[in-house]
Amino acid sequence: MAETASGSGVLAVPMTGGVALFGDRAGAPAGLDERGLADAAGAAIQRLFGRAVPVLYARQEHTRLTFTYSAGESLPPGPHLVGTCDALLTVEPWTTLAVRTADCLPVALAGGGAVAMVHAGWRGLAADVLGFTIGRLRAEFGVTPETLDAVVGVGIGPCHYEVGAEVVAALERQPVADGSWRGNGVVDLARFASVRLAALGLDPGRVQVLAGCTACSPRYHSYRRDGDPAGRQWNAVLLTEGLRPSSP
Ligand SMILES: [Zn+2]
Repeated sequence: MAETASGSGVLAVPMTGGVALFGDRAGAPAGLDERGLADAAGAAIQRLFGRAVPVLYARQEHTRLTFTYSAGESLPPGPHLVGTCDALLTVEPWTTLAVRTADCLPVALAGGGAVAMVHAGWRGLAADVLGFTIGRLRAEFGVTPETLDAVVGVGIGPCHYEVGAEVVAALERQPVADGSWRGNGVVDLARFASVRLAALGLDPGRVQVLAGCTACSPRYHSYRRDGDPAGRQWNAVLLTEGLRPSSP
């Protein structure tokens, strides 16, 4: 799963059957609302693949609620609000699933002909949004964990994530592969996500964690760094029928 940077505010990571796309600050100026971010994701896909796609997005509430889209009819291109949830799933090619983040982790899953996009901050991880999403992939589409690729996008790094004991205690309730995610009053959320995915049955060799920290890097929006005026990144996954993004 090599990365390709398009140089236009989006990082494309090929996955089984599709691609995960991670927008950064250049691709999403501060001030875009949730619909505007979904629109920006759709515009990036149009640039990379030359086609207009529907982009599903949700009201995010740090829950473990999931939404599954199965086509009865084909959606028109553009943003579509699906309601409140923090993970979206589909098996429909070109139907794009998007979440927005500032310090929370975006986690893309793909395999067995399905994709899912997850918004995972510490609250969502403590509520086991990853376990619920992987459970839905199996229940709805028969996709087993060992057939999945995962890409954990950039969120807040341990360098900027001192937390209280209650956060550590909440995360510790989930079974994980090892304790490498916790330090002294510090949590590495991306590491937690990868050891949780391993405990859920994913092959650790197929879990890719993108390096970086939203609070460290001016390339990203960060709530912890910028406070209330902070913008948000968009993050998306879609099935592309074997097509790869055009080179920059
Ligand atoms: Zn940092």
